[in-house]
Amino acid sequence: MAKHSKLHSVFFNKCPRCGEGDFFIAKSAYNLRNFDKMNRSCPHCGENLVPEPGFYQGALYMSYAFYVAFMLIYFLSYNYFFPEYLDYFLISIIPVLIILTPYFYRLARRAWLAIFIKPLQENV
Ligand SMILES: [Zn+2]
Repeated sequence: MAKHSKLHSVFFNKCPRCGEGDFFIAKSAYNLRNFDKMNRSCPHCGENLVPEPGFYQGALYMSYAFYVAFMLIYFLSYNYFFPEYLDYFLISIIPVLIILTPYFYRLARRAWLAIFIKPLQENV
């Protein structure tokens, strides 16, 4: 995956412009005290990571899309591998969704910002 691609920045906690500076301060989504602390600007290129107040309300829609996609894939996999235990589907997915919440929170914010920021070109 190219270092300056949007997908790289979304999945590896990097600035969507330069692909070098960290987006969130904590490296892990499971550092529960600090998983939501963001840099206000990129420590590498200085890109503003909080363009305006309330900007990340749009990340709710990204988060919703990630949850729906995950639940659909989970359901299809569950139905394929354990069709006789389909009654337990909801019981099994709820703890999984709770565990994935910090990860999807961070993923949604990075994806939302990556929509609006153009990455730097490699050879410029
Ligand atoms: Zn940057």
